[in-house]
Amino acid sequence: MTDTSVLAQRLTAVRTRVAEAARTAGRRPDEIRVLLATKTLDAETVRAALTLPEAAGMVRGENRVQELVAKGPALADLAVPTHLIGPLQSNKVNAALRWAGCVQSVTSVELATRLSDRVADGAVLDVMVQVNVSGEVTKHGVAPEQGLDLAAQVAALPRLRLIGFMTVGAHTPDTGLVRAGYARLAAIRDEALAAGLATARELSMGMSGDLELAVAEGATMVRVGTAVFGARPAL
Ligand SMILES: *Cc1c(COP(=O)(O)O)cnc(C)c1O
Repeated sequence: MTDTSVLAQRLTAVRTRVAEAARTAGRRPDEIRVLLATKTLDAETVRAALTLPEAAGMVRGENRVQELVAKGPALADLAVPTHLIGPLQSNKVNAALRWAGCVQSVTSVELATRLSDRVADGAVLDVMVQVNVSGEVTKHGVAPEQGLDLAAQVAALPRLRLIGFMTVGAHTPDTGLVRAGYARLAAIRDEALAAGLATARELSMGMSGDLELAVAEGATMVRVGTAVFGARPAL
């Protein structure tokens, strides 16, 4: 397990990066939340990081429902919002609902409908629509041209609250291309707001390697793993 003083330093370094990127973009640092991507980490390490004062206000993100379920009981006492940021198969919807307060990876109306059908009466699940801005075939998400339509369909479902959009940026050293993808997501969000989807304000975009580009294009949530936890074993 990584030393907690190392985790604390890296958390602070991430906050500093976000704050500097915000100031450069003429934004307030507190407009941007940090999600810690905790895939492959054991519950003990996740707890060690999230209970540090340096992690105050941060969100936890898991990629795999299997890990959400495995770590859920051990972390249930933490008052930390937990988001699913990876693909969700329809047969795992109940498990996701049990352990995640937000599903950022809604990529179809079928999935959204299934979620909506399974949310308990009186409860509301926050969701984001995941858009594949880079067009890379390895990435999940709807095509940008379909982002607004899917958002409108999701927002119309009962028991779901569409809070915004998520993307995984292009995997390329061409920063112009990466930024253009983030700008595209921001444009879709702006269209959604203009179309009356008033709660769809969030832009979850940017990771350890490119969060500055995402903040420059309006990210409200950046998702970092390696910048805090170091390199992961290959999945
Ligand atoms: C792993 C992961 C991240 C974090 O990536 P890093 O490069 O480790 O910061 C962000 N978003 C998603 C969807 C991920 O799977």
